[in-house]
Amino acid sequence: MRPQTLLAAAARVPQKQDGLVNMPVMRASTLLFSTLEAFENIHHGDGLYPLHYARSGTPAMRALQEALAEIDGAPYAILTASGLSAIVVLLTALLNSGEHLLMTDSVYSSTRHFCDQELARLGVEVTYYDPLIGGKITELIRPNTKLVYCESPGSQTFEVQDVPAIATAAHTHGAVVALDNTWATPLFCRGADLGADISIHSCTKYIGGHADLVMGLLTCSAKYFPALWRTFQNIAPTPGADEIYLATRGLRTLAVRMQQHQETALRLAMWLKQRPEVVKVLHPALPECPGHEIWQRDFTGSSGLFSFVMKPYPRKALAAMLDDMQYFGMGFSWGGYESLLIPFRAHRTASPHWQDDGIALRLHAGLEDAQDLIADLEAGFKRLNKSAVL
Ligand SMILES: *Cc1c(COP(=O)(O)O)cnc(C)c1O
Repeated sequence: MRPQTLLAAAARVPQKQDGLVNMPVMRASTLLFSTLEAFENIHHGDGLYPLHYARSGTPAMRALQEALAEIDGAPYAILTASGLSAIVVLLTALLNSGEHLLMTDSVYSSTRHFCDQELARLGVEVTYYDPLIGGKITELIRPNTKLVYCESPGSQTFEVQDVPAIATAAHTHGAVVALDNTWATPLFCRGADLGADISIHSCTKYIGGHADLVMGLLTCSAKYFPALWRTFQNIAPTPGADEIYLATRGLRTLAVRMQQHQETALRLAMWLKQRPEVVKVLHPALPECPGHEIWQRDFTGSSGLFSFVMKPYPRKALAAMLDDMQYFGMGFSWGGYESLLIPFRAHRTASPHWQDDGIALRLHAGLEDAQDLIADLEAGFKRLNKSAVL
C-alpha cells in the first residue's frame, strides 16, 4: 500500500463495526475478561498484549498506533497524551542518573525546559550541540553518552540536521538516536530511514490538523520498545478517547492537507523573500536555509511552517502589523488549517544568535487561499511601515 492509500485504509474494520466506515469513539476504563483463565493470563511485563486496562489502550488506540507505526516505517508505536509527554517518556525511559545526553540547541523549547529543570535535577548531564554539527558530533560523545537527540528542522530557526551522519557517529559509540520529526510528518520524512532508533511526533500538529486536540507519538524498533512501553505504563500519559478519534480522522486527509500547506508556504516564502522589509527567509526548501542540501537529500517535501527575519523596527510598528492581521492569528501550536504569525526570540547556547539585530517571525501557512494570505501580509507591511515613520 502506498502512503496515501494507507491513510485511507488503516485503523478501521467495518466488518467488525456493524459496517460503520469509521471506528467509533471508545470511552473506557474497564475491560472485562470472560474466563478466569483469561484473567490470569494478563501480561504485566514488557509486552503490548493483551488489553487489560484502558489506561494502556483501547482497540481504537491500538488501531491508531498500528496505523502510525506502519506509516512511519517502524514496527512499534506508542501514543501519548501530548507531544511533550512522548518526549518525557522517551527521555525518562532511556536516561539514568550519571548518564549524558547530547541535545540539539535548536530543540523545541518545552523539551529544553524538561532537560534543564527535570533531567538535570535527576542527575542527567545535558550538553547542547550546534544543530549543524553533522558527523563532528563524535567529538562531543563521552563514555557515558547514552542518547543523541535531534530535531530536524530545528524549532523556530529551521536548521536541517545531518541525521544520518549523526546517527552513524552515535551508533559507533553505542549511543541511541532519537529524532523529533514533527515538522515533516511521516509523509515527508521517516526517522527510521535516516538511522534514528526512535522518532517523535507531536500529533497535535499536522496529524490532528484541525487545532482541536493534543497528542503525541513515539515510533521505534523492537529493540527500544520494551523500555519505552514500560515507562509509558508507569507514567501513563494516556490520550483521551475523543483525541484518538479525531487524530484517526486527521489521518484521512493528512496527505492532501500537507500538499496544500507545502504549496502555500512556498508561495508565501518566495513572496516574502523579495520584500524590502525582510532580511532573510528560513525555509528548508530555500537554498539560504542552513542545511538546505540535507533537506533536499533526506526529505520528500516541506510543510507549512517557516520563519523570516525582518529589519529592526520599533515594537509599536510590529504591533501595528500583527494586531490587525485578518487571517494570521498569534498562537503557538501550529499544524491546524489556520494561518499563524508570531514573533520569537530563539534561546540558543551552542549556536549563533542570528536574529539579534532584527525581528524574527514564525509563520504557519494554513489552508486559506494563498492570494488572500499575501494580501493580508501586504496590508500588514503597510501598517508596519506607516507606524515606523510616525
Ligand atoms: C509542538 C511540538 C512539540 C510538543 O507537542 P505537544 O503535542 O504540543 O505537547 C514537540 N516537538 C515539536 C517539534 C513541536 O513542534
